[in-house]
Amino acid sequence: MTHHTKYKCKKCDSIFVSYDQIFYLNPKTNEINIENKVLSAIEESESSPLVGNIIETYCGNCNEKITIFEINPFESRYGACTSINILNDSIKKHYRFIQEKHKKALELKDMLTDSIIIEVYDFILENDKYFKELIGELIDSNGNNKNMMSKLNMIINHMESFIDTYVNSITIISIIYGGYFYTMDGDKFKRDHCPKCKNRITYIVEDETCPICGGELKVEDRIHLD
Ligand SMILES: [Zn+2]
Ligand SMILES: [Zn+2]
Repeated sequence: MTHHTKYKCKKCDSIFVSYDQIFYLNPKTNEINIENKVLSAIEESESSPLVGNIIETYCGNCNEKITIFEINPFESRYGACTSINILNDSIKKHYRFIQEKHKKALELKDMLTDSIIIEVYDFILENDKYFKELIGELIDSNGNNKNMMSKLNMIINHMESFIDTYVNSITIISIIYGGYFYTMDGDKFKRDHCPKCKNRITYIVEDETCPICGGELKVEDRIHLD
């Protein structure tokens, strides 16, 4: 159903991965969910008022990742302007949330001794909703210190990879077939251009050009998820 695709540039050997992910907002809280495009996530997104695709690319000129949240207007309940505003708000909140939890998790890791094991346990439980795929069966009622540490490390790794992929990228909101990109600061500019340097960006797909050197991209590997 869905896959992660690894591309390699024939000229400079750079590697790019496209993750084929979707986002959708929780209809009650407007919290954003970011998921691999698997059947369960697609089903889940059907009751959401705001859904779309995530496109990851790169500006070779700025040397920065670019993440585009592309709203699907045909499956979203709001008009363009409202969709963009709500999504902007939800992304900012989510980025802040992950950064705060990351900070808290690092503090707990430093303090991890027997005496605060309850606190770590609470932290993991309280975040179960967000990191359920990582925690799952790992929670056992008499979890020892070592177990706690490995759980905490998994959560930290997960958050760091999120921060690296999303928070530290140039985040853009766009609409399928729309002519514009919108930055998180509310600026509007021509589609397919980097908001920082205004250069044209290329996408990570077969036979496109490498965003770093302009060479040809070829599929190196494909990982199927379901
Ligand atoms: Zn290249
Ligand atoms: Zn740029």
